[in-house]
Amino acid sequence: MKIKSAEYILSAVKPHQYPPEEFCEVAFVGRSNVGKSSIINTLANRKNIARTSGKPGKTQTINFYEVNNSLMLVDLPGYGFAKVSKQQKAGWKKMIESYLLKRTTLKGVVQLIDLRHKPTSEDQDMFAWLLENKFPVLLVATKSDKLSNNQVQKNLKELCNTLGVPKDYPIIFSALTKVGREEVWESLHGLLEM
Ligand code: GDP
Repeated sequence: MKIKSAEYILSAVKPHQYPPEEFCEVAFVGRSNVGKSSIINTLANRKNIARTSGKPGKTQTINFYEVNNSLMLVDLPGYGFAKVSKQQKAGWKKMIESYLLKRTTLKGVVQLIDLRHKPTSEDQDMFAWLLENKFPVLLVATKSDKLSNNQVQKNLKELCNTLGVPKDYPIIFSALTKVGREEVWESLHGLLEM
């Protein structure tokens, strides 16, 4: 995918702060620290339009990035960090669900899962919720550069068994080596019918 332009638009918490529903959108979900900012940077061929961080839980806003004046990549707040109250969790859920369920320009969701670890119960719940709500879902297994080829195959098998998906369904990805970048774009084009 040739990137002619890519820019950060805004960060929102409430629906009235979202940008206008002008372009097709794809949203990115996953545990905090799984690599959502990194995949957005990789897809957009930019080092830092989306701010990456070593600290889990920093992104508690919905961040909108526009690519080629035609598509919005949307980074949703990550789940799964331990030290939050029930109240904060409920606030997170409400923020995510109201975006996902009400955004009319949303064409699909990319769920990121860290290939180094077995999907967590929250990963499983999120995947099940997306399917239940009939979202087209692209599953991306991240940080594959941190594993040997053997481990990639072994963990992929476990990931697919846990989520009940075929072995060729997840896209193996690395923001470091860029492996999987073109496949993700191809699948996104499929979702967007671009
Ligand atoms: P987010 O919280 O989901 O937005 O995660 P970030 O994109 O900020 O990434 C969290 C940390 O993981 C950062 O230190 C990134 O550099 C690192 N990271 C993200 N993706 C990859 C990857 O594919 N490979 C490696 N080795 N590190 C990654």
